[in-house]
Amino acid sequence: MVKRNKNLAKLQAGYLFPEINRRKNALLEKSPDAKVISLGIGNTTEPLTPHITEGLKKACEGMGTVGGYSGYGDEQGMTELRAKIAEKMYNGIVDADEVFTSDGAKCDCGRLQLLFGSEVSIAVQDPAYPVYVDGSVIAGATGEYNKDKELFDNIEYMSCTPENDFFPDLDILPRTDLIYFCSPNNPTGAVATKEQLKKLVDFAKKNKSIILFDAAYSEFVKDDSLPKSIFEIDGAREVAIEINSFSKPIGFTGVRLGWTLVPKELKFEDGSLVRDDWNRIMTTVFNGASNIVQLGGLAALDDEGLKEMREVIDFYMENARLIKEGLDSVGVKSYWTGNSPYIWAYFPGRKSWDVFSEILEKAHVVTTPGSGFGPAGEGFVRFSAFGHRDDVIEAVKRVKEKLNL
Ligand SMILES: *Cc1c(COP(=O)(O)O)cnc(C)c1O
Repeated sequence: MVKRNKNLAKLQAGYLFPEINRRKNALLEKSPDAKVISLGIGNTTEPLTPHITEGLKKACEGMGTVGGYSGYGDEQGMTELRAKIAEKMYNGIVDADEVFTSDGAKCDCGRLQLLFGSEVSIAVQDPAYPVYVDGSVIAGATGEYNKDKELFDNIEYMSCTPENDFFPDLDILPRTDLIYFCSPNNPTGAVATKEQLKKLVDFAKKNKSIILFDAAYSEFVKDDSLPKSIFEIDGAREVAIEINSFSKPIGFTGVRLGWTLVPKELKFEDGSLVRDDWNRIMTTVFNGASNIVQLGGLAALDDEGLKEMREVIDFYMENARLIKEGLDSVGVKSYWTGNSPYIWAYFPGRKSWDVFSEILEKAHVVTTPGSGFGPAGEGFVRFSAFGHRDDVIEAVKRVKEKLNL
């Protein structure tokens, strides 16, 4: 028989969303008429917008004609789309040949494991989007799981809590090869300031580390003084890779289109370019994002598409504002600065799963327990602003009426 990959056997998660579903189904068995509303997972709910839909439609129709048909394209992405991402999403501060389009940010997180292999040390924000840790576990880069501490041996967990303004204390952080950093953050919603990111870049430079910057929510940043990209920070081009996606800003969660940006200045110890290795990986194990979808992405970066993008984001941000206002009105402490689709609600002294169950059972509203994102998430639950307006209004009403938190 074939031996199971020992790294896969080390995975701890895969527990969060199944457990949420288990508890939800248990409620529905007890109360079959309960109209459960989910503000749990970060999945988009609103339809694709007209101009972007039209772009996809035209691309599809083109594929059905002799003149418009295309087969395999460049694995790195369509030249025109790479250029338009550099221009429209980065105001030209990056070059088109540093942008690699893909089937999404999560998939790129997985392929980044191939780039760095199993010998690297890692730091992650705590709490964090689970893929950084789990992807590293699968790659064999995390060491053993320490059952007592409920942590992996070779990972530095950078605690991000209200006490440190959700920004890690770099003075006490040991050097690691890689630093995963997500801003605006999933799940806390915190956005690092330019000053904070400058500290992170300087820290990486001093330690010769590489920052893997997840900017999947960059378009939700409304405050002009806050950075949308790590490359707005001086020196970042020598120390950072950025991962981004069309999933959240234009609802491409199911359509699938993202990109990774690897600057030419970023080098390995031996002087070779990280970008060249990334190019090699993408041309080897990836065969390009869908040509239809990339044309949809091009439409999204037209003036009309960008306008629609802003409208979709404003819609979700109004949801977020309603949730925040509702929590405020019943005295629940929560964190949301108006620059992300997540509200991070705090219940000091309580367990996330207990709060989750109370909200589910009393208000029939699904949230996500903060502890599922890492030990520093204990005591928090995450409310997601991805939902239809009626559902959000109803959920907020119920939370206000039914909860005595
Ligand atoms: C949703 C999400 C992603 C996933 O993006 P895809 O492009 O859909 O794979 C990546 N990072 C974070 C932090 C996310 O919340």
